[in-house]
Amino acid sequence: MKQKNILLVEDSRLSSKIISDSLIENGYKVEIVDTGEAAVKKACNSLTDLIIMDIELAGCMNGIVAAHKILERMDIPIVFLTGNASKEIFQELTTVQAYGFVLKGTNGFSLLSTIEMALTLHEEKKQTKVYNNELTKAHEELEASRKEYLELAENAPVGILKCDNNGNIIFVNQSALEILGSPSAEETKKINIFTIPALVHCGLSDQLKKCMMDNVHGIYEMNYESKWGKKTYIRLHFKPFTGPYNSNGAQLIIDDITEQKLLEEKLRILSSTDPLTSIYNRRYFVKKLEEEFHRVQKQGSGTFSVALLDIDHFKSINDYFGHHAGDNVLIKLTETINNRIRKIDCFARWGGEEFIILFPGIKLAEAKLLIEEARNSISKMDTLVANSITVSIGVTEYCANETVDSIIQRADNLMYEAKNAGRNCVRSC
Ligand code: GH3
Ligand code: MG
Ligand code: MG
Repeated sequence: MKQKNILLVEDSRLSSKIISDSLIENGYKVEIVDTGEAAVKKACNSLTDLIIMDIELAGCMNGIVAAHKILERMDIPIVFLTGNASKEIFQELTTVQAYGFVLKGTNGFSLLSTIEMALTLHEEKKQTKVYNNELTKAHEELEASRKEYLELAENAPVGILKCDNNGNIIFVNQSALEILGSPSAEETKKINIFTIPALVHCGLSDQLKKCMMDNVHGIYEMNYESKWGKKTYIRLHFKPFTGPYNSNGAQLIIDDITEQKLLEEKLRILSSTDPLTSIYNRRYFVKKLEEEFHRVQKQGSGTFSVALLDIDHFKSINDYFGHHAGDNVLIKLTETINNRIRKIDCFARWGGEEFIILFPGIKLAEAKLLIEEARNSISKMDTLVANSITVSIGVTEYCANETVDSIIQRADNLMYEAKNAGRNCVRSC
């Protein structure tokens, strides 16, 4: 163990000789000064581990005043030593944070054991101080990261809410207020996600409760009308808190995806419709026809019919009246057919001036009647360009075990038969 440095402040040569001899004999290194001024100077400039301070000293400064001056600047344990044990001295001593008081002339062991105890006590005090400093630092760091997290959450571009175990909102950030159209955090904190009607009605409250109970994440997308009337399409990420510091409640991250959903819807419409006539396009029709095949084949019963229409001599309409007039005829024709078919029928532009209709659940005889009516209506259309627009139509019903291609091919052949039969008529089989 490192040898300890003791500063002995004593003006009596005899006394200092006896004490220092005893200390050296017991393994200490000793320096001696005989005034309070010298003690202050020495203590503040050397690596002193402990001071033994006589109270009555040679200079102008007594040991207690010197101790005060030293302790103002240094953290050194001081043990007082005096021959004068008056009441006044004791009272004055209580003003200093001393580690002991030993009467001169008493058994040498009493001084040695007081020194030992003072050094041990001081070492412990130092350790506690280090520990307390570390603890304070850790607390400060924790508080700083908590503040940083709160600031991040507060300014995040997505809505962040926190609820307790009972579903009560206990934190809400600025973005969440904007998404919900809420006037304030206080108003939002009146919400309980397990009982708010908008979430109860769509069954989400129960799902969130289950997430909380099972401690699992959940992601939901829905059309949401907030308590304050704001309608948005939101994506909700629900995450229960786990771990020793967050054993309560859950975090809700909400994102306003209204624009994304509108764009998706726009894209969906664009990818499935014909831009000129706004009816379905060929790709969508084929998908629907395949679905109808699956439905009928899975059921083992049931049927459907398909009709293919081609405008007669459409090229000459373009030639005489221009392409724009031709476009208007195509639009007018789709409106006429749309007025005669059911919502569940799928009407699409097959290409150019050819159109196709799927009649789910309809047998050939009924499809023929429907299509005959449509043909008749088309021939009576007022198009402002030609006296009469006519169409040739092939119509056919589903046969067991056939394919999408074969039924379309049959409808196409029938449509050509109608053309060859003089146009403006329906052929079926
Ligand atoms: P048929 O009675 O034998 O069917 O004669 P048709 O003239 O109708 O047939 P053809 O295949 O010779 O001509 C089809 C015309 O349809 C040619 C093409 O320019 C026109 N057409 C195709 N798509 C459009 C379109 O989007 N707008 C316009 N205005 N015309 C189109
Ligand atoms: Mg054609
Ligand atoms: Mg044609």
